[in-house]
Amino acid sequence: MSYPHLLEPLDLGFTTLKNRVLMGSMHTGLEDGRKHFERMAVYFAERARGEVGLIVTGGYAPNIEGWAKPFAGTLATSGAARRHQVITRAVHAEGGKIALQILHTGRYGYQPFCVAPSRIQSPISPFTPRELSERGIQRQINAFVRCAQLAREAGYDGVEVMGSEGYFLNQFLVTHTNQRSDGWGGSYENRMRLPLEVLTRIRAAVGPDFIIIYRLSMLDLIPNGSSWDEVLQLARGVVKAGATLINTGIGWHEARIPTIATSVPRAGFAWVTKKLRDQLRLEGITTPLITSNRINTPEVAENLLAEGSADMVSMARPFLADPEFVKKARENRADEINTCIACNQACLDHTFAQKISSCLVNPRAAFEQEINIIPIAKSQQARKKVAVVGAGPAGMAAATTLAERGHEVHLFDAAAEIGGQFNLARQIPGKEEFAETLRYFGRRIEVTGVHLHLNRRVTTEDLLAYDDVLLATGVTPRDPGIKGQDDPALAGKVLSYLDVLARKAPVGQRVAIVGAGGIGFDVAEYLLEAGHSLTLDAPAWRREWGVGDPAEVRAGLLRPAPSPPRRAITLLQRKAGKLGGGLGKTTGWIHRAALKMKQVEMLADVNYEAITAEGLWVSYGEKHRDTQLIAADTIVLCAGQLPNRELEAPLRSAGVRVHLIGGALEAGELDAKRAILQGTRLGCSL
Ligand code: FAD
Ligand code: NAP
Ligand code: SF4
Repeated sequence: MSYPHLLEPLDLGFTTLKNRVLMGSMHTGLEDGRKHFERMAVYFAERARGEVGLIVTGGYAPNIEGWAKPFAGTLATSGAARRHQVITRAVHAEGGKIALQILHTGRYGYQPFCVAPSRIQSPISPFTPRELSERGIQRQINAFVRCAQLAREAGYDGVEVMGSEGYFLNQFLVTHTNQRSDGWGGSYENRMRLPLEVLTRIRAAVGPDFIIIYRLSMLDLIPNGSSWDEVLQLARGVVKAGATLINTGIGWHEARIPTIATSVPRAGFAWVTKKLRDQLRLEGITTPLITSNRINTPEVAENLLAEGSADMVSMARPFLADPEFVKKARENRADEINTCIACNQACLDHTFAQKISSCLVNPRAAFEQEINIIPIAKSQQARKKVAVVGAGPAGMAAATTLAERGHEVHLFDAAAEIGGQFNLARQIPGKEEFAETLRYFGRRIEVTGVHLHLNRRVTTEDLLAYDDVLLATGVTPRDPGIKGQDDPALAGKVLSYLDVLARKAPVGQRVAIVGAGGIGFDVAEYLLEAGHSLTLDAPAWRREWGVGDPAEVRAGLLRPAPSPPRRAITLLQRKAGKLGGGLGKTTGWIHRAALKMKQVEMLADVNYEAITAEGLWVSYGEKHRDTQLIAADTIVLCAGQLPNRELEAPLRSAGVRVHLIGGALEAGELDAKRAILQGTRLGCSL
């Protein structure tokens, strides 16, 4: 067995989990409203069939005050509990186990009924919470207890009590949010009364044979967060109050330190769980601890368990990316796992945009009933001979979907390797995970039997014999046409992002980047780090962002200590407003903060007047005022892209059935999420 620790059952006394893998709670948006129970049942059942040891649902509020937003999913009545039974039955039918997460958001609630220990507004909600009275607090406790009882009634195997990430229970623990002077505030004993009372009363109500997970904030990463002594006291209390498992929480939502983005080192916070586990073990406390954050492969998970960092590993997004993660690991097919690249683009970014979450690398996630890969034999369709031109994300998704269904598929690429622009993306420091998608598709091309033809720039004549031709030929860089840009005397001074990332052209010390979209930001990070990656150097990453040992500094919060920039960079855009406004909702702030820490100058509202030997001349606004020289040795053009579809017209005139996907169809606002979704959908439908 390749992953003996990961696949080892965990005996909880009254029940046994089949392995050490927890599918962590993720809000997909399906929880809110009544119409998605069947869809959730299919979604969770697929993960249970994939052999997850224990699933935790997205968060359910125990009452209206606890809503994350108006009409958020709530479990407060027997009627609601009955509706959940379709989920628990579906999971149990697959041999799985599932716990419901009780999430009371407190002052994080994006709704007018939110409550908190003190009347202190959070930076992430426009609503100021109502300060709870003594009776109000008792009402919240009762709601938690009732919610847990109803979860049991609904057939769940347990509950997870959300006590971290800065939510309601966490808010009582720290003076940052709890400034009460009654029996629920002041001393730490008073501040931790609420979570302990909640747990004790839940245990009394549900009996001894029901899983209670407590999600404990081990590293708040906010000013005046919990000290390490307080974390330890709380952990002891949580065990005494009857928790079956302790899960790890890292960072409040308002913290300025990234905790799950792709640029966070893999398993970058597991050391905190280990620190707590080691101490509790010394005291003879053996309650299993679960570690979490940026764990996305069975190897990483296995190592954490083998070195004693935890007793279980929580992975959430990796189960959007691949419901069969555990099964593939058990069957020694780990190289077939579709790895979560921690991009947040289709999961968390969707949540913030009030859309149902899915997954960039697996568009079926949460859309299992809608996107179905049905074999042609089953639908009695004729087998087609299909050519896919371009092995970027769009082409790879389409080709493998078509081949899986049984079509004969030929995938062509002019390059020597598959991946298209993902080969550029994976070179950016902090985007190393993108290589996993290429590994996955490489293996999937083999498994599904796609005929791969690399180093083949195809022409119209090559494609005439196919039933269908898919053009997934991607994009070419847009030429911004700046005066002086093509002056032969400036050869080597003006480069495109392709020259920098693909052709490795030499770049000087002072750089101006024209265009501040995703690629402009990425090129800036690439040039700043110059071959180093903080993501692969965890101690340096912690120094850079200011993460310390919580035993030495309260809440693990240090002053950031960025290393000096390796280049002086100016990033420019023509539109007014902040740079990077179009980047992902949950990751844009990280890119902006990273560049600010490296003193990158960001200029908006510019006109590009000319390029000369001295650098880039710009002026500002419609009136072209304040002409200024941005002194630069190198100017890198990242001015967007245009579709590459030169094969379309000749093929159509030759009578070939042509389909365009990815960048070849539309370059504006193109990303890999759209490319893979389009490729998969077309692959399902031909
Ligand atoms: P491409 O990836 O461009 O692939 C097209 C392929 O077609 C190429 O391999 C090319 O060689 C081949 N081809 C073209 N013409 C022919 C021909 N005649 N014959 C044979 N082969 C041909 N997206 C995200 O979603 N998130 C990110 O974080 C992200 N980061 C990025 C960072 C960088 C630095 C870059 C450059 C891009 C990034 N992207 C990101 C964008 C993403 O990579 C693209 O949106 C995606 O690759 C587009 O997929 P595609 O399949 O349409 O085209
Ligand atoms: P982009 O995001 O559309 O940005 C293009 C940039 O070029 C903008 O700053 C634009 O701003 C500028 N520009 C446009 N036309 C110009 C012109 N004629 N002259 C000068 N400047 C011009 O495109 P991109 O950066 O090329 O990225 C391509 C795609 O890859 C993006 O759509 C993105 O989704 C994806 N990607 C995503 C990420 C990510 O982290 N999610 C990272 C990299 C890439 P002004 O018009 O204001 O000057
Ligand atoms: Fe992971 Fe990105 Fe998929 Fe979210 S969208 S699950 S972060 S790969």
